[in-house]
Amino acid sequence: MSYPPSMMESIRKLEASRKRRLGQEIPSMTLKEKSQLLESYHPDYRPGARREIPIGVNKGDQAPHEFVDLLESRSIIDPEMFDLDSISVSVDVLIIGGGGAGATAALFAHEAGAKVLLFTKLRFGDSNTIMAEGGINACTSRGDNPVRHYIDTIGGGGFYNVPELVRALVVDSPRIIQWLEELGVPFDRQPDGNFIQRHLSGGHTRPRGHSVADYTGMVVVQILRDEVLNKKINVVEFSPAVELILDENGNCAGAILLDLETNSFINVKSKITILATGGLGRLHIQNFPTTNHYGATADGLIIAYRAGAKLVYMDSIQFHPTGTAFPTQLMGLLVSEVSRSRGAQLVNVEGERFINELETRDAVASAIIRETIERKKGIITPVGMQGVWLDIPLIDIKRGKGFIQQYYRHLYHRFKEYDIDFSQEPVLVYPSLHYQNGGLLTNEWGETNIPRLYAVGEIAGGVHGRNRLGGNSLTDIFVFGRRAGTQAGQLFNEIEVGNLTLDHVRKYHQELGKKGINNGKKSPIFFPDYRNEKALPHFQQ
Ligand SMILES: Cc1cc2nc3c(=O)[nH]c(=O)nc-3n(C[C@H](O)[C@H](O)[C@H](O)COP(=O)(O)OP(=O)(O)OC[C@H]3O[C@@H](n4cnc5c(N)ncnc54)[C@H](O)[C@@H]3O)c2cc1C
Repeated sequence: MSYPPSMMESIRKLEASRKRRLGQEIPSMTLKEKSQLLESYHPDYRPGARREIPIGVNKGDQAPHEFVDLLESRSIIDPEMFDLDSISVSVDVLIIGGGGAGATAALFAHEAGAKVLLFTKLRFGDSNTIMAEGGINACTSRGDNPVRHYIDTIGGGGFYNVPELVRALVVDSPRIIQWLEELGVPFDRQPDGNFIQRHLSGGHTRPRGHSVADYTGMVVVQILRDEVLNKKINVVEFSPAVELILDENGNCAGAILLDLETNSFINVKSKITILATGGLGRLHIQNFPTTNHYGATADGLIIAYRAGAKLVYMDSIQFHPTGTAFPTQLMGLLVSEVSRSRGAQLVNVEGERFINELETRDAVASAIIRETIERKKGIITPVGMQGVWLDIPLIDIKRGKGFIQQYYRHLYHRFKEYDIDFSQEPVLVYPSLHYQNGGLLTNEWGETNIPRLYAVGEIAGGVHGRNRLGGNSLTDIFVFGRRAGTQAGQLFNEIEVGNLTLDHVRKYHQELGKKGINNGKKSPIFFPDYRNEKALPHFQQ
């Protein structure tokens, strides 16, 4: 056995209570109970967790300190000194970000005839998308329809979702599954050929998740990456965006990027720019561990905000209830929510359940925090982290021996490296920073308030309200990646770019100066800083 003796006593209690728990029903919460739980325990509501954005379009709105710190920092480039005359390349459509949303936008813009150039910070495909486990929602079964998907999404989002965006999401979702299938994504199917439709998470009233075992994102990214390269779309790796360029008329007209190998800047002029740089998990809001990849540092949000793009719901962060809490090497690793819809239960140190596992993510994460911090019924690890058990072996008990091995190949192998048998032993979990519910506000074609600047995927906000339902983000990145790419492909021909300017950066700096804000930081930060003691808090909640 792999768990230390100090944790084994609790595992025995969990095993002893299994039979009783199998028949135990925990009713869903009423709306009132849920709001009380969220207000008391969800990290978004912690006193002192956020502050006002002091300048810019969203001045006065609340956001987490870690994000506002970046908004209060100066640009890496000095707009007074920077030479915009030496344009390295001119394109029709510039895509920034090499995850699922960026690759999708690139493919559709290319198909519409645009000359497309995609820049990304790491290797093409290094992203949150490649890590997606659970699957993609779409109403493709007879028992489901867009209206149900719409209502579930809005209910899950706390009724804050932008209706036009949700409409686009649910109406386009079946065609996205068809498109991915045509590209070669081998979605899991039943023996009769129909999709295996998974109940990906709490909040969905119908099973509508389309998966490839527990490595959906990896398969999808491999296929999209091949498709982009086969179409000979130019991709530049290890070159993050540093600042957006506007033209004299206030239109977005390209970006400055940094070649990380030569440490030199690349100025790209473009008729249309599509930002697809993903989220902010690596800012470790409130020191939470994260499920996100290393490049998720809010870069796109920061540079778009400096250029005048409007943000929405940046005070709303999604903490996934079941991030790994032991072993420390796997801290934050996501254990997909499908495990709970397949029967895995959350259990405290005494072997007792404490929440209906199919409540929405915000509620389940809050209940885990209540169970550990307030009720002191968590399991403490040797390094002082705490968590509750996710009783995974119940899945095999309910669905037949071998099910876990078949559908959790990725997680099975990850835990095996630390001598934990994912099919036989429970996993210790704690909420992990997973997703930014908010982001850049766009319309249903991905357009921001800055003309010729689009934002697609996790960087965009509004569609998920204040709580995204599981499986809806992959739907989102493909639906809006396709919409933005297609529209850009239709419009680029009519566009003339005016004189290029960095006046927006200059003005932003001036506004900071007028407010007396000088935190000594520069942004975007590109990568998290894990040196010395700065890393430690992320491992002790
Ligand atoms: C572990 C995990 C599991 C998940 N499972 C699911 C799931 O099953 N179903 C679901 O619907 N959702 C899931 N999600 C959420 C979903 O995967 C993401 O929200 C979504 O894939 C984001 O796609 P994206 O293209 O917007 O961003 P990403 O996939 O993160 O891509 C962003 C890209 O931009 C690049 N980039 C960042 N900064 C810069 C810069 N300055 N310049 C240039 N490039 C930059 C990054 O390197 C990256 O390539 C999961 C997320 C995680 C982390």
